[in-house]
Amino acid sequence: MRGETGGQLNALGLLTAGAREYHASTADRMRSVMSRLAHGQNPTALFVTCADSRVVPNLITASGPGDLFTLRNVGNLVPPSETPGDGSVGAAVEYAVTVLGVPSIVVCGHSHCGAMRALLEGAHTDAGEPGTSHMCRWLANAGPSLARLGTAPDLPEGPPTAETLCRLAQVNVEEQLGNLMSYEAVRERAEAGTLTLTGMYYDLETARVHLLDAATGRFTPVPGVVTGTVPPQRTGTNVGGQLIDESPSGASSRPSC
Ligand SMILES: [Zn+2]
Repeated sequence: MRGETGGQLNALGLLTAGAREYHASTADRMRSVMSRLAHGQNPTALFVTCADSRVVPNLITASGPGDLFTLRNVGNLVPPSETPGDGSVGAAVEYAVTVLGVPSIVVCGHSHCGAMRALLEGAHTDAGEPGTSHMCRWLANAGPSLARLGTAPDLPEGPPTAETLCRLAQVNVEEQLGNLMSYEAVRERAEAGTLTLTGMYYDLETARVHLLDAATGRFTPVPGVVTGTVPPQRTGTNVGGQLIDESPSGASSRPSC
């Protein structure tokens, strides 16, 4: 394995080996695209998702450099505009919407989310707990999602199950979409019809993407791709498993949860 020294995984060695491999196999093909992007970006979406290492936005949307203005944090949270504290989320939202003028915002949750599990289990709620005080304060922003779960229809009774965790991740996406509307720039452009908000959910076990159906309030498989068929080829250069043009897409084969 790259970066492995005497059986011990060396993170710096792994990343350095990866950069060396990138230079050898990919950098030359990226140069024309990146030299053009160096003069400015025009992303198709603000993509809000969890910091979880298993969620790779460009991979699950078949997109590449310059396509997604990405905001990642624990639990893919967007605290309401007037929430005191860290302003990094608000800055990212305003930069994407006001400065870059993105036409779309996507909030993407995922299955097996550690933040959602902590929320469901009531973990990290003691600000005095060593090593987790910031997590405690941050996860408090997801409290309304937990309350929203309690009002969700068709929720199984009894102790929390895997399905409960899945549903919490999904209602959390809906909650953040609502929170986005508390930002003046988002609200004005959404009401003017120049900005769309979309809910997305990524199921790790099936590696499939689901979209929130605004009409039913349920997450449903991305249409247009049937399991077992080969997705239509896109134009563009495939670099390291990622196309470096635009036009995101996804696939799913079963209803979520
Ligand atoms: Zn997560």
